[in-house]
Amino acid sequence: MKTELWGSYKLSSSAECAKKEIEKLVPDLNQSISSLGAEIKGWKIDKNLLRIRIISTRLRAHEALLRLRSPIGKALGKEYHLGIRETRVDDYTLTFSLEKEPLGVVSIPFANVQIKGKEVRMSLKQLSREFLEKNYIDRMIKLVREKVAKQHYKGKKEYWELMWQSKQKSERWNKDPTEEMLKLGWLKQGPTKGKWFFYPQVASIMSAMEKIALEEVLEPLGFEEVIESHHVPLDIWLKTGHLKSIPGEIYYVSEPLTRKEQDWEDFTDMVKITHKVPEELFKKHLDTPKSGVCYAQCPIIYWSLQNRTIAEESLPIRVFEKRAVSNRYESGGRHGIERVDEFHRIEPVYIGTKSQLLELRERLIERYRHVFEDLLELEWRRAWVTPFYMSQAGEVYEGEGEKVEGTIDFEAWMPYRGDRENSEWLEFQNLSIVGERYIKVFNIKGQKSRLWSGCSGIGLERWTAAFLAQKTLDPENWPEGFKECLSKAPRGIKFL
Ligand code: ATP
Ligand code: ZN
Ligand code: MG
Repeated sequence: MKTELWGSYKLSSSAECAKKEIEKLVPDLNQSISSLGAEIKGWKIDKNLLRIRIISTRLRAHEALLRLRSPIGKALGKEYHLGIRETRVDDYTLTFSLEKEPLGVVSIPFANVQIKGKEVRMSLKQLSREFLEKNYIDRMIKLVREKVAKQHYKGKKEYWELMWQSKQKSERWNKDPTEEMLKLGWLKQGPTKGKWFFYPQVASIMSAMEKIALEEVLEPLGFEEVIESHHVPLDIWLKTGHLKSIPGEIYYVSEPLTRKEQDWEDFTDMVKITHKVPEELFKKHLDTPKSGVCYAQCPIIYWSLQNRTIAEESLPIRVFEKRAVSNRYESGGRHGIERVDEFHRIEPVYIGTKSQLLELRERLIERYRHVFEDLLELEWRRAWVTPFYMSQAGEVYEGEGEKVEGTIDFEAWMPYRGDRENSEWLEFQNLSIVGERYIKVFNIKGQKSRLWSGCSGIGLERWTAAFLAQKTLDPENWPEGFKECLSKAPRGIKFL
């Protein structure tokens, strides 16, 4: 990498008088940065500006500019009573090479990016000291590399490796349960996009699934319930990385600017006169969003432990949240009750030493296996896939490393989608160990131990969809293990 800039130190008054001093100083300054690959290649005085040209092959040139501030300030202060008031870069060019040639245009904020072959030339102008000190430059270089890597990654399938597969189960039907439930009046398309109204028949099945998850998986393994809020402040998602990856899937929450009746008078007047929602007035009355609706429960659970030290006796922490409803803007991907914009998930979260989590993962898998094999009698499989935190961050994963940190997907065959071999199976839940990444960003400490964490997403709509797609809507066809939890659907409401 080569970096070159013209920068300037703005002095408290004209520096003309200090020309000789600067001339003397430059060789010393150069010596102090030469081992870092940087060099002052030129300088000039322009009234109260000391302009300086730096070229560097190792240290970023702007870092040299920041470093030289202090020795220059000292020398000019002592003799000439000149102080440095401002440091900035006027013109900055960075050239670096990529691993692969880009497949399309790459652009990023703050810079002009030109790429010839594998060589990138990134030019920036007029950068403040704050900009230089905040590590933006390195992040911009990383972003260019990431965008090029993504161009190559695009279209490639996510990593998927079969870990285990159940025996085939006899096929009972091949209908889409959502369509059939609609016909029977068990379901109604929700009042807004991607939502459902579950009448008692389906609600009872989802509740039975919840009961099974609690009684057969979480309680035997010592998980305890926590209750969190539905609203997630944006700075939490800044930490977890969600805002870098899925800002287009979040439902944002806006607070009213005030709750005073008189401030909303224009709004209520319009409602009274037009009997319509005066949408245009929202701009005036609502704040920009500062939070969003729960996407998954774990970020707030980590937040609740932020900056705390966990007593050794509490490890491994095992908690779950089942009340916050997950919202995701799925757009074109919506289908049936299995891919919706609002869904009900139970999310267990675990924090402990690496070995505690590896053991817990085995025990969780064993309990899940018991549920899907013995109670629901599903045809299902487990696969090692791109870890959710990598796919959400657009990072490439090709199965490298030991299978310790990462995500296991649990998938069920959906007969209505086609045969076992060629149709897409439904991911009805997953289980991850995420290593130290969230522990670090939320600064969670162990009394003695080094902590890791992980979570599992139990999607109740997906459990239900998978079960009904294989076992039909007729309780006669349901396995005995499940019938012990729910032997018949409630009577529901009869529509005329
Ligand atoms: P997908 O790849 O199917 O979009 P995901 O990787 O986005 O799933 P996660 O964020 O890992 O899902 O969430 C974990 C669990 O939450 C999933 O296994 C599933 O049970 C449930 N889930 C996720 N998205 C939806 C959705 N749109 N509708 C219903 N359940 C969902
Ligand atoms: Zn999670
Ligand atoms: Mg998704």
